[in-house]
Amino acid sequence: MPRELEALLGDLVIANRILAHEGVLDDFGHVAVRHPERADRFFVSRARAPELVTRDDLLEFTLDGVPVDPKGLRPYLESVLHGRIFAARPDVQATAHHHCPAVLPFTVTDVPLRPVFHMASVLGGPVPMWDSRDEFGDTNMLIDDVPRGDSLARALGGGTSVLLRNHGATCAAQSLPAVVFVCVRMKDNAELQTRAMGMGAVRYLSEGETRMASEMLMGERQLDRGWKYWRARAGFGGI
Ligand code: MN
Repeated sequence: MPRELEALLGDLVIANRILAHEGVLDDFGHVAVRHPERADRFFVSRARAPELVTRDDLLEFTLDGVPVDPKGLRPYLESVLHGRIFAARPDVQATAHHHCPAVLPFTVTDVPLRPVFHMASVLGGPVPMWDSRDEFGDTNMLIDDVPRGDSLARALGGGTSVLLRNHGATCAAQSLPAVVFVCVRMKDNAELQTRAMGMGAVRYLSEGETRMASEMLMGERQLDRGWKYWRARAGFGGI
């Protein structure tokens, strides 16, 4: 296996551990990365709690969510949602789907999740909400087929994040460090916004502030700083 791919899959394991350690992913939820040499393939773990994911758990998928070689392992039921975002968004290299408890109140009310501080500008503005009922009526609430995955990708649009009504959220970005950054800031923002709303009327970032701060934070230097910090907190710091 080429070295670049091997290193990327190592980072995918670390991204799983980081998002579990930071309280974004629990026993469910997943993070995926596009194949660096094949734009029509991606990697995500077999069905396993992210905190426990190792290199041997990673499986390669087509963008329709079909494992190339299942190795006798059981995939996540929602693997396909990553594939449909990769299909719709050539600029996206990494995705994550989670049910972060801090974010869930914004999926069960009509209160928009909006950046309240500069670090959360990477959410891109009020986070859109995907409602499975709009196109599919009552479902099992999962995104486990291509039509629902495509519908979610449409709701995500060109952004970095989308909420799923009464379910969770999905984030998408240009790299694993970037998608981890978006996920952790989404959690931070949800906690801060909830706390601030209890104190009174909340001031949000303006559209211009959101755009300019996000452009700055999504640069390689800033992302690398966050990645190294979270990696160390998850036990992969080195010296
Ligand atoms: Mn889910």
